[in-house]
Amino acid sequence: MSPNDHQLRHAQRNLPRYTSYPTALAFEPAADGLAPVDWLAGTRAADAISAYVHVPFCRRLCWYCGCHTTVAHEYDRIGAYYETVMREVDLLADGLGDHAGAAHLHFGGGSPNALSPEHFLALTRKLSSRLRLRPGAEVAVELDPALLSQAFIEALGEAGVTRVSLGVQTFDPAVQAKVNRIQPFDAVAIAVERLRAAGVTAINFDLMYGLPLQTPESVRRTVELALSLDADRIAVFGYAHVPWMKKHQEVIKDANLADAVGRWAQADAADEALVAGGYVRIGIDHYAKPQDALAKAAATGALRRNFQGYTDDPAPVLVPIGPSSIGCFREGFVQNAVGTDVWRTAIHEGRLPLARKLPVSAEDRVRAAVIERLMCDLTVDVAAVCAANGYPSHFLDGCIETARELEADGLCVVLGRRVTVPEDNRRLVRVTAACFDARLPETQRHSKAV
Ligand code: SF4
Repeated sequence: MSPNDHQLRHAQRNLPRYTSYPTALAFEPAADGLAPVDWLAGTRAADAISAYVHVPFCRRLCWYCGCHTTVAHEYDRIGAYYETVMREVDLLADGLGDHAGAAHLHFGGGSPNALSPEHFLALTRKLSSRLRLRPGAEVAVELDPALLSQAFIEALGEAGVTRVSLGVQTFDPAVQAKVNRIQPFDAVAIAVERLRAAGVTAINFDLMYGLPLQTPESVRRTVELALSLDADRIAVFGYAHVPWMKKHQEVIKDANLADAVGRWAQADAADEALVAGGYVRIGIDHYAKPQDALAKAAATGALRRNFQGYTDDPAPVLVPIGPSSIGCFREGFVQNAVGTDVWRTAIHEGRLPLARKLPVSAEDRVRAAVIERLMCDLTVDVAAVCAANGYPSHFLDGCIETARELEADGLCVVLGRRVTVPEDNRRLVRVTAACFDARLPETQRHSKAV
């Protein structure tokens, strides 16, 4: 269905994706790195931990890419990264306080399969032993299917990887050519078959809309092909065209991009095909089979949102590994040095490469909890969240009044202190979430709402 005028106006707002609150834009330099080191040491015996490993290398550059990555033509640079990241794991394991073991390991990038199979396996084993991987833990890896060798697939199976996310984006050859990411459907289908044969049974696909030359029809066709491969979860992200921040995106010409109405129609086409295919909507951009853990978490109010997107991972501590990686501790957020050289120098000097931090206040926490429930459940009892965080029920009444101003546009419904986003405005939920954001500068560094 075409968006109405209100939806169209709000869809073009530049807002955070709220993978955290406060968002990473609020992080400040961690001058001496001491506070984050104390936060690390302060984990508690009952805390399950998670870890995110950023592998900042790819073998090619996709023109739409918004990630922290570089193209490595020679393996030497990746090998040097591997040597350093192995040391980083030791530094972190030695610096962490007591904890209950790792419940979730997530490898992202870049392309984790830019690592050699041997290095990937050795790194996973090191993480398992030094972070004490718990039985039944999720080990998830993002993969570039075009780079995926049989040897790497076998390493994934041997490492006990439980879930992979394949960066599919589009199966349309014309769109693939426009974004420098050629990967025929057959290659992805073979990769999926081999992954399953190797014991990696949970398969996610990442798809995109808003890429050059994409139309609702081409998006629908891509989703139908994805459905034929029976993925457990499918994420559908809107391309964020920010060439003033990502120079390589200048290759993508504005004339080849759909306008806001076209982007909405493409998102609609993906949504209709996925729902017709039996998938459950999760948050703003994820879909899952009803029996998948994410769908179950969504159905029981246990869905969470963190830097990797939607998750069922309840761990209160996220350990950051690799350049640019973001971590989360009870006291606040930390981010590793973004530049690989700065990151490597710190580690080789025996220091953790923590470059930015943000202590989180009690007020940040209550706002974060409201925003997270909205982003996950589309509804929140603000008074209950306030009470659970030690605040009076009227503490966020000013924000509720701001949300009330969106009611006329149909973006939310306010009943007492409960705020609910109607299903037809699901993809605009961050507009309502922003009413609870006390730090919001609306900036082009955030992506458009749709
Ligand atoms: S494979 Fe992923 S991380 Fe690498 S350039 Fe392409 S989009 Fe970016």
